[in-house]
Amino acid sequence: MNFSMFIDFDGTIAKQDVGNRFFTTFSGGKNYDIVERWKRREVTSVQCLTEEAEMISAGKSELTEFVSQFEIDEGFANLCELCKKNDIPVRVISDGLDLYINAILKKYGFDDLPVISNRAVFDNGRLRVEFPQLEYSCGFCGNCKGSAIKRLTRDGDKSIFIGDGYSDLCAIDVSDYLFAKADLAEYLSRSGREFIPYGNLRDVKEWIGRELLAT
Ligand SMILES: [Mg+2]
Repeated sequence: MNFSMFIDFDGTIAKQDVGNRFFTTFSGGKNYDIVERWKRREVTSVQCLTEEAEMISAGKSELTEFVSQFEIDEGFANLCELCKKNDIPVRVISDGLDLYINAILKKYGFDDLPVISNRAVFDNGRLRVEFPQLEYSCGFCGNCKGSAIKRLTRDGDKSIFIGDGYSDLCAIDVSDYLFAKADLAEYLSRSGREFIPYGNLRDVKEWIGRELLAT
C-alpha cells in the first residue's frame, strides 16, 4: 500500500498558531472578534483573513522578522525522513499565509517542501491576502484542505492528514488516516468521529512506522 501525506502548518508543524499570533500582535488584538466569528463559521476564511490584513500597519520586513522567532515540532525532520525513505510525498496545506510558512520552513531547511496556502502580497507597503486556491474552495475556506487532499492524493494512494484546528474540518471526510490533536481532536470527539490522537509529530512518525509501514 502507498500513501500521500498532507500536513497542516499552524500548531502542527509550527508549535504555535503563527498566523493567529501574527495577526493578534500586529492588530493589537483587534482581530479577536472576527476570529471568534470565523470559529463559529459566521464569516469565511476569506472574509476573516481579508479583514485581519486590513488591521495591520506593519511592513514586510517587520513582519518577516517577527515570524522568524517561531519554532517547529522536533519530530518533523524525522517524520519527513521516514516519508522520503518510503516514497510518501509530503505536502504542507494551510489556510494561513505563505509569508510566514515559507520563512519558517526555510529557517529549518525545509524550503523544498511543496506548500499550498494563501498568499501575502504588499501593496504600497500594506499587507493584502490573495487566495490562489479559491477556485477549488468549498465556499468557506480560502485554501480548502479537503479539496487539496482529493486533488493531490496520488492515484491508488491512501491519504494521511495531520492537523490540530478549525481550519482542518474539510480534511476530515477525505482522509484515510486522520491524525488530530487540540481543537480538531476535541471537535472529532464531540462529533463521535474516529481519529488517531497524537501529542507531537514524533508520535505520528512512530505510529506510521509501526502500523502502516512495518510488514
Ligand atoms: Mg492548525
